[in-house]
Amino acid sequence: MISEEEARKKIVETVRPLPPRQLAISKSLDFFAAEDHFARLPLPAFDNSAMDGYALVASSCRKGERLRVTGEQAAGPDRRLQISPGEAVRIFTGAPMPAGADAVVMQEDVTRDGDKIVINADVEAGEFIRQRGCDLAEGQRILAKGERIRAATAALLASQGFAKMTVSGEVNAAIISTGDELVKAGEKIEPGQIYDSNSALLQALLQRCSAVVDSVEHCRDEREPLIEAIKSGSENQIMIISGGVSVGEHDLVKDALHHLGAQIDIWRVAIKPGKPFLFAKIGTCTVFGLPGNPVSAFVTFLQFVRPTILKMMGATNINLPQVPARLSVDLTNDSDRPHYIRGKVEHGEFSPVGRQESHALFGLSQANALLRLAVGQSLRADEIVEVQIWD
Ligand code: AMP
Ligand code: MG
Repeated sequence: MISEEEARKKIVETVRPLPPRQLAISKSLDFFAAEDHFARLPLPAFDNSAMDGYALVASSCRKGERLRVTGEQAAGPDRRLQISPGEAVRIFTGAPMPAGADAVVMQEDVTRDGDKIVINADVEAGEFIRQRGCDLAEGQRILAKGERIRAATAALLASQGFAKMTVSGEVNAAIISTGDELVKAGEKIEPGQIYDSNSALLQALLQRCSAVVDSVEHCRDEREPLIEAIKSGSENQIMIISGGVSVGEHDLVKDALHHLGAQIDIWRVAIKPGKPFLFAKIGTCTVFGLPGNPVSAFVTFLQFVRPTILKMMGATNINLPQVPARLSVDLTNDSDRPHYIRGKVEHGEFSPVGRQESHALFGLSQANALLRLAVGQSLRADEIVEVQIWD
């Protein structure tokens, strides 16, 4: 049986970033930059006021000084006003500074008296001015190739006048859930049947990776329909088949894949939960066969499918985020495979949640982190551990 690390490496190596495309900034959230982006403008682009108040010459005014108001500058077109010592210009937040002014006094510190003001505070040069380029210099790199576009990244690109940007391609995926016992949510259920929850799980996980779910099929444990479903699913870049990859007589996925001439690169990985995991290629389609047990499907998606999709989408960092946490209990892995313990990180502490069995979906729904225990590893309560988070 192949190790988890080897399996991940082998899988990820089979894919390449998809060709780049142009996208409106407003549609770019959670995609990855296909090239470096540089500042076209400094930020701020010009010296401007940080307050509603009065622009003046700091050296010419002490507390109690009377100044003559000679004009007004709002945020917007620069009126190219000028002031001399003893004068002030009414100014508003974001407005360009008049020539000659070197400070702004906020209006709360001023008494207005006709066309004069009286200054009620000490004023220092530079006060309440946002200086050109203090946040960002022209030419500075604002986004590196392979970095994820977040809300603030989109705002930064827009602040530079970018209407579009270049991101790596979008992954489309097909989901096939297999099993005679499965019933679609919303339909009537008979004794012995269960609702198909993996379709919902996989759609949500794919959405989280910004992949497009092109089709969601349910297929009975029958050879011919399964072959048909896999054939049509293989038109996508990625196909995720849930269930039917284990060793029972009703596990027909491998056989169907063989029939279609698929190249099965991996079957069974040393990972708990998730051992009966399968990885194959049909033509250009990357196929993942995930175990039907919901927690196994979840863990193997995060460890194998997610990094593959992120690489195709051009991400530099394809690993799950990790955070340090204090372990609340002693834990030992007596099994022969690395064990991903489902738990909750709260206030810096990690506690296992619910039953640590591969069918235990409720426990998983309460968890927000995975702790990987290597084979034979023992951890003590209060130790600081690194846990993977996904939300
Ligand atoms: P399998 O991998 O097909 O042997 O299924 C293993 C376990 O997962 C069985 O208990 C199945 O009933 C369950 N299972 C399989 N597919 C799904 C699904 N789509 N939703 C929920 N449970 C499933
Ligand atoms: Mg099954």
